Amino acid sequence: MPKTAYAALSKEDAKREFDAVSARYAELKAKNLKLDMSRGKPSKAQLDMTSDLLTVLSEPEQCVSDGLDVRNYGELAGLPAAKKLFAEILGCKPEECFIGGNASLTLMYDLISKAFTHGLKNSDKPWCKLDKVKFLCPAPGYDRHFRITESFGCELITVPMTAEGPDMDMVEELVKDPAVKGIWCVPKYSNPDGVVYSEKTISRFAHLKPAAKDFALMWDNAYCIHEFEGDYVPFPDILSLCREAGNPDMVYEFASTSKITFPGSGVAIMAASENNLRHIRPILATQTIGFDKINQMRHVKYFGSADGIRAHMRRHADILRPKFETVLRVFERELGGCGIAEWTHPRGGYFVSLNTMDDCARRVYRMAKSLGVALTEAGATFPYGCDPRDRNLRIAPSYPELDELATATHALCQCIRHVSAEVLIREKALGSLRE
Ligand code: PLP
Repeated sequence: MPKTAYAALSKEDAKREFDAVSARYAELKAKNLKLDMSRGKPSKAQLDMTSDLLTVLSEPEQCVSDGLDVRNYGELAGLPAAKKLFAEILGCKPEECFIGGNASLTLMYDLISKAFTHGLKNSDKPWCKLDKVKFLCPAPGYDRHFRITESFGCELITVPMTAEGPDMDMVEELVKDPAVKGIWCVPKYSNPDGVVYSEKTISRFAHLKPAAKDFALMWDNAYCIHEFEGDYVPFPDILSLCREAGNPDMVYEFASTSKITFPGSGVAIMAASENNLRHIRPILATQTIGFDKINQMRHVKYFGSADGIRAHMRRHADILRPKFETVLRVFERELGGCGIAEWTHPRGGYFVSLNTMDDCARRVYRMAKSLGVALTEAGATFPYGCDPRDRNLRIAPSYPELDELATATHALCQCIRHVSAEVLIREKALGSLRE
């Protein structure tokens, strides 16, 4: 039905559209769908593509890296070869890399946790001794980031996202408050908007003048080499930029191979100034004698170099691209011109961000769920799980097979049209009452 804007439909046409969408909804309901577009997980094909990683180390003699037997204790901060490999990806120095365990989220949680228990390098006291800790959360953003700082009792402050990254006028103003101790950032292909921070935004971050001298710029570069469309987009080394701007200890950069090799069984990286690492290392040494160096070595051997990783990412792109194209094609076909939703057209990362009309996202989420289509919960992309306009939905196209994805997206669109038509009919009815 209509490719006309919903707002321009007559009351009768709106009712006809509602009935047509309701019929399609009933048909879909009868299909007992069980489809999942909720989390950004690589598909089986992507995991299978990396199977050789499992067999690169088979003999004891292969388990030696720079003279070090990787099967034994030692090297808390990771294998030198792994530091070199990931420094090449991030553009920082190997000495600024700390290679952790299987997931970057653990390193982020750990850093915040240590800020509370021990303080960061430039803290006067641990954050747990402070009356209030505030944390900036660019939104829409990554729910798990927000939850980390929420779990430590921080007050979360929403900063709107723009096409160039977080609203920097607002960030620069907010950091004048000494209780504001940090900000979550995903600088390339942000989750969920797919925004690549502009050069200007990045420079403003590097030159930030926070009142808190232990302000933590949590720079989660989770999607730094994850383009699925177009050429590789280079990004600047945030550590150098912060150093040059006189803020050498402000930034902590994170990355992992979760969406390069195996999520949950990859290698995580934290890059920070050597001074910061000197501060953190002894605290971490109480917690662990070392992380999984065998896995670090597997990754080093499997890829060989940063170019090897980038070539591998092009193979991921070939699997991911058609999935994003499918979602966007169905959105355009089902919602284009209706004026009831808008969505992003990312070139990398793992998500499409969709905005419904205000006050509709939760209802769409519930309707989709009742059809058997799982989405990330409405509201999740905002601090405290509360989207003030109740309109943002995060779509994760990577996991389902193409045909399932087309079905799930089609079903989601019917839910959006159903809820929107209902709102429209109610508005029209109210309008005629007023007349
Ligand atoms: N950071 C961002 C922005 C993410 O979107 C995700 C996963 O979706 C992660 C981190 C999780 O990374 P890891 O598996 O390394 O903990």
